[in-house]
Amino acid sequence: MRPRSRDLGRPPLPQLRRYAVDPSLPQRYRPVGFALADTGLLYSLAHRPRYLELFLELYGETVTVAEAVADEIRAVARVPQLDRPHRNLVLMGSCADRLVVKLNSGAITVAGPPEDSDDLRATVMRQLREHDRAAAEWRGEAWNLIDASRAKRHNGEIESILVAVGVIKSGGTALLLTNDGGASRVAWQHEVSAQNLRHVLAELACADPELDEGDLLVAFEEMTAHFGTLPEGAGPADSSAFRCRARADKCHTCDPLANQVLQR
Ligand SMILES: [Zn+2]
Repeated sequence: MRPRSRDLGRPPLPQLRRYAVDPSLPQRYRPVGFALADTGLLYSLAHRPRYLELFLELYGETVTVAEAVADEIRAVARVPQLDRPHRNLVLMGSCADRLVVKLNSGAITVAGPPEDSDDLRATVMRQLREHDRAAAEWRGEAWNLIDASRAKRHNGEIESILVAVGVIKSGGTALLLTNDGGASRVAWQHEVSAQNLRHVLAELACADPELDEGDLLVAFEEMTAHFGTLPEGAGPADSSAFRCRARADKCHTCDPLANQVLQR
């Protein structure tokens, strides 16, 4: 496939990079208009509620989900407690319950994709499927185009990308928060930067010097053991991924741009 990203102004991604990281984004949290979180990333955070709270505190009112993501979460939360064990929804169900509280309180807001985004929706879906196929081939597995569950699973990611593209087109700033490598690569093709749980926890480390990098690494591993597993090579090698290099409250290494502003 010819890399489309060239037409859209971003350099094509290396074929082997499983997660598209925007090199211009610093470790330290930089305010953004809309942080579009997908289902996997939210479930992984909700699995350790303390970190869900810290995340919502840091991102404030920018935490947004696409309608399809809110629908997925609410559908899981509606499964009665008694039915959860045999549907393998015990863990996911309790995470969904916690997230529904945040949706209901408005701590997480919901946004619909822009009108007339049907063409873009079809393009994004095709690109996500192409990514699935490439990933399956890479793993040496068979891949079936008419895999309905797989297609349905992408709805949240597709809508999140559509909302982010819409915000950016109208002059705002948006970020996709996902642990899914395919979604990050497709978002990149549409000039939307993606960050994953590893980045979010590193931002928390910069925001709160009390957080211990070892604890953050353990939390990261627990949170991604069941949901939102990162692609190979995208996770933290060790706890230094969650280390803030700030000295005297100045996070120079964590955000070079903040450094420039401070010097002015
Ligand atoms: Zn820092």
